[in-house]
Amino acid sequence: MKIESIHAHEILDSRGNPTLNVTVLLKNGVTGSSSVPSGASTGVHEALELRDGDKKRYRGKGVLKAAANVHKKIAPALYGMRVTRQRDIDAAMIQLDGTPNKSKLGANAILGVSLACAHAAARAKKMPLYVYLRQTFDLPFDRFRMPIPTMNVLNGGAHAGWILDFQEFMIVPRQRKFKEKVRCGSEVFHALGDLLKKKGHSTLKGDEGGYAAPLKKNEDAFKLIMQAIKKAGYTPGKDVQLAMDPAVSEVYDKKTKRYKLNVDGKSLTSTQMIAMWERWLKKYPIISLEDGLDQDDWDGWVEMNRRLGKKVALVGDDFLVTNVERLRKAIELKAANAILIKVNQIGSLSEAVDAIMLAKQYKYKVSVSHRSGETADTTIADLAVAVNADYIKTGSLSRSERLAKYNRLMEIEEELG
Ligand code: PGA
Ligand code: ZN
Repeated sequence: MKIESIHAHEILDSRGNPTLNVTVLLKNGVTGSSSVPSGASTGVHEALELRDGDKKRYRGKGVLKAAANVHKKIAPALYGMRVTRQRDIDAAMIQLDGTPNKSKLGANAILGVSLACAHAAARAKKMPLYVYLRQTFDLPFDRFRMPIPTMNVLNGGAHAGWILDFQEFMIVPRQRKFKEKVRCGSEVFHALGDLLKKKGHSTLKGDEGGYAAPLKKNEDAFKLIMQAIKKAGYTPGKDVQLAMDPAVSEVYDKKTKRYKLNVDGKSLTSTQMIAMWERWLKKYPIISLEDGLDQDDWDGWVEMNRRLGKKVALVGDDFLVTNVERLRKAIELKAANAILIKVNQIGSLSEAVDAIMLAKQYKYKVSVSHRSGETADTTIADLAVAVNADYIKTGSLSRSERLAKYNRLMEIEEELG
């Protein structure tokens, strides 16, 4: 099961931008492939996504340099290594890169190889990926648990031309089986579409496949979703809960230390933002609030966790960037109680698993997540099951790159019986 060769090439993601697809070939002829996702509302503390910057190709977004780094630097370093030594493989790439944010080789180059190795190893061992990941990382769980999906049915912010200030309004179905949750999500999603149509709104969709309707106020999103849940025959709060990712690092003004909400015509301090979230939590069955404050507003996060942490999962995405150092600081300061895991924020499978296990040790909720720019790759579905993640965040109930993950999870559930 030794690595023979590694090939990387450009493919296009769900937004039509280049990203890497990597294939690892083993000496026994087995291959494994993976594609790298890409964010739009990217956190400033994320590992570096290496892009060519050649404005004459793909508006500067080409990834030929990252592909060349795979061929010329990473492949020679990994040649002959046992593909099942995932931690050694990741460590070798991290050492070869030598920078704190993977800016030399590119987090996209390293991650593509990291994921492709896991796929090749699982296939060589004739194991489903989630079983292989659990085994290779020696994860201390005795059974597999399906994650709860948080489904982004209304899109705003950077994913939908800023028609709303907040990025994601999600439903969280609470049926017993995963496939029943998917059914419920789909029914509510379509009921929401009918409702928008009836009210004369557009039913066009944003980057993650949720509706992108220009509503009068940000809060109208949840008002409509509550109606849609009922219209689909479900009880809000019981059958379906809510979650949100306002992603407010995007609307934070560092100079004035205020959050600018254009749709609501407001400019709020951290404390006022927390008060607004507190009001929303009283009005709506929200179980999870991601990036409710700016990525560097540590004091704000501490205050928010003190005031709301008992009632809701306060998820750090741009705030924690799947990074154990930032997570450790948050644990020390009691600044959050949940973490979003995006494999390309940190750039290797091993480091993502480290963040997950540290989070679990301190009773943080774990949500494994896609990016707004996705591919048909379904690795995160297997990862979520391998680590017994509490949640998976993989978009709406439309667009194949989102549904591929839900479909893979339904397949895993069948397999688990
Ligand atoms: P991104 O958004 O992939 O565009 O960064 C997803 C998120 O903020 O959760
Ligand atoms: Zn987010």
